[in-house]
Amino acid sequence: MLGSGENDMFLIAMNVVGYSDQALGYGTIWMTAYQTYSRGRLRLSTRSPEIDPEVRFMMLSDERDRVRMRDGMRRLSEFKQHAAIGKVADWVGFGNPLAASKAVPPKDEHALDEWMLNNCYDSQHAAGSCRMGPASDRRSVVDLDCRVIGLAGLRVIDCSIMPEIVRANTHLTTVMIAELMAERILN
Ligand SMILES: Cc1cc2nc3c(=O)[nH]c(=O)nc-3n(C[C@H](O)[C@H](O)[C@H](O)COP(=O)(O)OP(=O)(O)OC[C@H]3O[C@@H](n4cnc5c(N)ncnc54)[C@H](O)[C@@H]3O)c2cc1C
Repeated sequence: MLGSGENDMFLIAMNVVGYSDQALGYGTIWMTAYQTYSRGRLRLSTRSPEIDPEVRFMMLSDERDRVRMRDGMRRLSEFKQHAAIGKVADWVGFGNPLAASKAVPPKDEHALDEWMLNNCYDSQHAAGSCRMGPASDRRSVVDLDCRVIGLAGLRVIDCSIMPEIVRANTHLTTVMIAELMAERILN
């Protein structure tokens, strides 16, 4: 959709909301945009490696992400009303079922965007802050062998080198990046 590749979005049913007795009585269906176009910012506020950098994800800042997330929300609404869900659930709603106030997504497009910004969150796949690419591109941090451009003797080998966020979970992808680079370095 909108120039994305296959598997650009992800739907998963889970029975883990938390581990309290109340939480164990709930299940969830998650909808996620895996290929995202919104770009965040990472800024070093100090030279000390002990101090975390400032990170701004700026999720949903690109219209292509908003279009697909709105579409995903519509699909979730359809699921919610499906008889099969009604059969197994006493209560069906949006957002965290344990939250005091129940979240109701509005129909209006702009209000829905605002609602998503307030109620949705990231899928913990932060990546690409040291992206791989040609030295001619000022956004590149490492070359094709994960060497930091302009600095001798330093490589970055983790999920920060991904030039784009992958359309998959990032753990195994990172493990494979590490395996490949370990083999290359040994050779
Ligand atoms: C809550 C959560 C749930 C997730 N669930 C999944 C999932 O179900 N499936 C999936 O595929 N992915 C999941 N991910 C994403 C996945 O964990 C990451 O994409 C992956 O771990 C990235 O690997 P990495 O090696 O790049 O970074 P990390 O695994 O974060 O490793 C970075 C390491 O560097 C260390 N470090 C940081 N600063 C310093 C320093 N100054 N000096 C020395 N060491 C330092 C850290 O302690 C850490 O050990 C999840 C992430 C989170 C946060």
